[in-house]
Amino acid sequence: MTIGDLTKYLEDWAPPGAAWERDNVGLQVGSKAERLKNILLCLELNEEVLKEAIHKKCNFIFTHHPFIFNPLKRLDTEKNLQAQLIEKLLKNNITVYSAHTNLDFAKDGVSFELANSLKLKNIIFLENQESNQLKVVVFVPLDKAEDIASAMFSAGAGKIGEYDSCSFRLSGEGTFRGSGKSDPTVGKKEQFETVSEVRLEVLVDSWNLNKVLKAMLKVHPYEEPAYDVYSLKNKNVNYGAGAIGELDSEMIEKDFLLHVSKSLKIKNFKYCSGKNKKINKVAVCGGSGADMLGIAISRGANAFITADVKYHAYHEAKGNILFIDAGHYETEILSLSAVASKIKTFLDRKLESQIKVFKYSGTTNPVKFYKQ
Ligand SMILES: [Zn+2]
Repeated sequence: MTIGDLTKYLEDWAPPGAAWERDNVGLQVGSKAERLKNILLCLELNEEVLKEAIHKKCNFIFTHHPFIFNPLKRLDTEKNLQAQLIEKLLKNNITVYSAHTNLDFAKDGVSFELANSLKLKNIIFLENQESNQLKVVVFVPLDKAEDIASAMFSAGAGKIGEYDSCSFRLSGEGTFRGSGKSDPTVGKKEQFETVSEVRLEVLVDSWNLNKVLKAMLKVHPYEEPAYDVYSLKNKNVNYGAGAIGELDSEMIEKDFLLHVSKSLKIKNFKYCSGKNKKINKVAVCGGSGADMLGIAISRGANAFITADVKYHAYHEAKGNILFIDAGHYETEILSLSAVASKIKTFLDRKLESQIKVFKYSGTTNPVKFYKQ
């Protein structure tokens, strides 16, 4: 199995196209053509992580935070730590790959895993992603509708939440007249034709459009298939930011704070109290999600857990919602378990269970709590 086989699978779950437009996700260093050995997962790559990867014979490092975010102007291996790491990675044939905001926005990604860790039920996105879907409408001869639809589904069209193969089909009549140079599949050239056709409609994520059109055109029997691509305004139900769910049984604030501490295995975190009512609906956003405070309140959450909260945001929350800053690293590190289990499922399915998946054994969190 190549590294590319694994990243292709990961991208079905967390497509790079779903990432924030200024993010830098996907391959960072190395080659996807290499045969996959062992795998090391971490939030971010540093010298210690690389040492462990070499020691554990991993040739694939998965990071959440992109290893290369800002464009590099030079690779000075004498003075620059990142350049030294790149040199070492290449010398050791190690490929680095990052899934950042695409993993944040994926179902069962960073925020869903945070919600799972808090044992929330009925977890859904806190806010679905802004419109990034298209509607493809293609006019197909009746007897080819099924073949064309399934080719488009296989290329990624027609996914709505827990449903796949979603389409709408309306029967009607298509008309055309081919020129003297045409070669019509149905009817004769230079003759006005009326044929029974189906108007086949499917939803397509924008990053899958070319793939879906290519698959459709390959199967469509006409010389000049007629199709339309429409932009949509509706939100994408398959991707979103943050997550919201319910506790099994409601808790008073004090008990919920202890629950957070135990579930996330953290001793220190900042918070401000909400309405001092019982907590049953909880919103979360792994990493810097404080901007979603208003959405958490409007969705009826009694508590919101995220990180990188500014002072004034606590004032906004006070008396409204229990607002917790549980730390950037702490709210994201748990997602590596979700990545590990997805990868293990894939390796088992491909009968490649000799490939080992490790989570970095140390911590890359630079933040410390001072104790007197
Ligand atoms: Zn982050």
